[in-house]
Amino acid sequence: MSAAKPQTLTIRFFYNFRIDKKCELVVKKSSFQQLRILTPEKLALARLILEDVRAGLPVLEAVRRHPEAAGHVNKSTLVAAYTQLVERGEWPADEALLSAIRLKPVRTLSGVTTVTVLTKPYPCPGQCIFCPDDIRMPKSYLPDEPGAMRALEHGFDPYTQVRSRLESLTSVGHPTDKVELLILGGTFSSYRRDYQAWFVQRCFEAMNPNPSPLAAGVVAEPGVIDEVGLNQIHLINESAPHRNVGLSVETRPDEVSPAELAWFRSLGVTKVQMGVQSLDDHILELNQRGHTVAEAQRATALLRAAGFKIVLHWMPNLLGATPASDRADFPRLWEGLCPDEIKIYPTQLLEAAPLYEYWQRGEYHPYTTEDLITLIADVKTSIPRYCRVNRVIRDIPSPHVVAGNRRSSLRQDVHAEMARRGTHCDCIRCREVGAGKVDPALLRLDDLIYHPDGAEEHFLSFVTPDDKITGFLRLSLPGPQSPATGLTDLAGAAIIREIHVYGQSLAVGVEQSGAAQHAGLGTRLLVEADRIAREKGYRRMAVIAAVGTRQYYLERGFERGELYLVKII
Ligand code: SF4
Ligand SMILES: [Zn+2]
Repeated sequence: MSAAKPQTLTIRFFYNFRIDKKCELVVKKSSFQQLRILTPEKLALARLILEDVRAGLPVLEAVRRHPEAAGHVNKSTLVAAYTQLVERGEWPADEALLSAIRLKPVRTLSGVTTVTVLTKPYPCPGQCIFCPDDIRMPKSYLPDEPGAMRALEHGFDPYTQVRSRLESLTSVGHPTDKVELLILGGTFSSYRRDYQAWFVQRCFEAMNPNPSPLAAGVVAEPGVIDEVGLNQIHLINESAPHRNVGLSVETRPDEVSPAELAWFRSLGVTKVQMGVQSLDDHILELNQRGHTVAEAQRATALLRAAGFKIVLHWMPNLLGATPASDRADFPRLWEGLCPDEIKIYPTQLLEAAPLYEYWQRGEYHPYTTEDLITLIADVKTSIPRYCRVNRVIRDIPSPHVVAGNRRSSLRQDVHAEMARRGTHCDCIRCREVGAGKVDPALLRLDDLIYHPDGAEEHFLSFVTPDDKITGFLRLSLPGPQSPATGLTDLAGAAIIREIHVYGQSLAVGVEQSGAAQHAGLGTRLLVEADRIAREKGYRRMAVIAAVGTRQYYLERGFERGELYLVKII
């Protein structure tokens, strides 16, 4: 998201209040705790159902066979009963049974469990006219968006946000040993650094073994940066039950600088989400983005040179755009910026945003749902195979949308339209292997080479015979045109920006025959990356390792550098 360093020092201090006191928020009783309170009757009933499922009966049939007075036993109850039976030693752990009763298995299909947290309400230096303002929320968020609601319930406390999310995911049967943390909320870089450090530290404390010495109760913001404490918390997480395998923050192109990237690394950040929104300076200006296309390009090049994973936001239907101009704008993303992931956020007309007044004066025209489906179906075919489309619409509750598209199921609509046309999207998300079994012998190793921002990128991926992706590695070879980062670990080094292996994420030590995650694909990708880098004349390799993945790389020949892990190749 964000730009600008103007005006804000006094405002920052003014907003440094604890929102939980101001808003009289009530922290919800953990759903995990509630679920664990099983009456003996309920447990007995759940046990009968589980026995039937173990004997091969489909879950729904088993549930119907054993109704309770108030209706039917739900899956959360089944998972809670299963957990109790295993914990008491009455039943052995049974991964197949757990898979059958687990809720929404798709949430962890990418191999990693995502936990989203929001920073406290705070102003953003940006003045974007489409961005809503709500005093209760960090800039650009509305209180009833799904993740935002949870954050509000917890008074934006980082520790309880993470802790309760992990507990509720555990209670419905998800492995939570590999956690990607998404920190959302306006522009992270615009918060005071002591707050940023404290927020990240408290998130890690929530992933670390509980109770940790600092984890009891809500710990107040200290007002100073505790670097030693943060490093210790990171070290503990390297072998914690919930290891952090990715840490993402949101910022604006004009906040990205070498010093900012070094700071992000010291916090453990591995991925940066950034609003680019348009690649047309005139549109950026009309919408008061406060930065230019050139600044977005410079920021992206810097992020790449520092090895970060890059997620860009692109917005069709901004003020001044038309479906035709958006159609022309989108392909520019692949001429230099080349993001690893994108979020397509069609502009949504909200009463809480200045754009509303433009609309009232007849100066802004929202696209219809049909316009948007046609546009996105058109542009999706041009997305390169190295990119993942995370979203095609933002999850804003439809009552907020004053005019224009209100459908949040746009992705399905777009795919239906593409199927009707006989076209398809080749992005990573559309090719992820999912829960199916993978035969490693049949996998093909692809090396897709492209040249963004003066670098040479190798997108190495293992694909199945039907073109499903089972794992990939992003290798970045900086060129003479790549911007200087000043990061000593990276001097003369090839950089691994990401390794991702798919399959239902497995608890540490649990084997599941055929699941991609444990078939050594990561190691094979690393070996290939070394070979390519050596062939290109590099003698050093650096990896932007998330805190909880450091051990993985240390076991594979890397050593601790200052902010990255490095090795001689
Ligand atoms: S979109 Fe909102 S949060 Fe992002 S930079 Fe603009 S004003 Fe800030
Ligand atoms: Zn796709």
